[in-house]
Amino acid sequence: MTAELPATPETVARHYDAITPFYEIIGSRSLHFGYWPRGEVGGSFGEAQHRFTDLLIGQLGSQQGQRVLDVGCGLGEPAIQLARSTGCVVEGITISSKQAAQAEQWARRHEPSGQTTFRCADAMALPFPVGSFDAAWAVESLFHMPDHATVLRELARVLRPNGRLLVADIVLSADATPRERAFLQHAFVARTFITAEAYPELVGEAGFEVEQVLDVSAHVMATFDAVAAAIQEKEAEVLRAYGAEFLAGVKAQWARISESASRCMGYVVLTAKRRSLET
Ligand code: SAH
Repeated sequence: MTAELPATPETVARHYDAITPFYEIIGSRSLHFGYWPRGEVGGSFGEAQHRFTDLLIGQLGSQQGQRVLDVGCGLGEPAIQLARSTGCVVEGITISSKQAAQAEQWARRHEPSGQTTFRCADAMALPFPVGSFDAAWAVESLFHMPDHATVLRELARVLRPNGRLLVADIVLSADATPRERAFLQHAFVARTFITAEAYPELVGEAGFEVEQVLDVSAHVMATFDAVAAAIQEKEAEVLRAYGAEFLAGVKAQWARISESASRCMGYVVLTAKRRSLET
């Protein structure tokens, strides 16, 4: 059923290189969902994205001076927000070399203390020795990757014993039809949407003790309406950057995505601790 998926590390990188300016126009330099405490849209999409990052920072619980790995760092905005608010040091990796350069450039300008660094690397084979980090987070990046188990084992390897892991990920419900699944995988350039129920076992098997699995679906799904409203509001800018065909296409596509997502998409924030007796 999942044999002919289009997402490879190369297509994921190219997707982000092409679509990032669009997300910057309609939201912020963060490339993730927004969070609304009461579940209803209010305020801008960008504000809701920053609010979500703040919630994730609270869940990760990193402290001053700790070394944190950001797996799938995007343009680096969440890492900078994390470094600024906690005083920890963040190393971000992304599969797009262009994105890594953009993140690095932005950080040198806006986070001159040097607490954040970014580079191009594949999360499936992390370029770090055993026990390099006190904590790690992967915010909306695992679903792009070929195999959750491999990347989770890599994360266990590079975290020190008792190091903390946070995963924020889109999930699909078990009753998603093969058609819905294929459509959403294509639309999100996803490789492996899993179910919320499958997460704890996968994370446990990779060498972690799962602490909490938060279902935040009710707080983030307003992203679909917020993005539609932002496209409307920023129409002229999107048109200037991408042209009329893209604008018409993205509006139609977003309406279809929203409909499917409201039926079978969910969102989990999982926190775990690296078990100390694993190798
Ligand atoms: N966490 C960021 C970006 C989310 S977008 C944010 O919240 O703003 C998904 C990110 O995952 C992109 O940066 C993409 O390049 C990265 N990614 C996808 N597959 C990857 C892989 N195999 N290795 C490293 N990064 C990957």
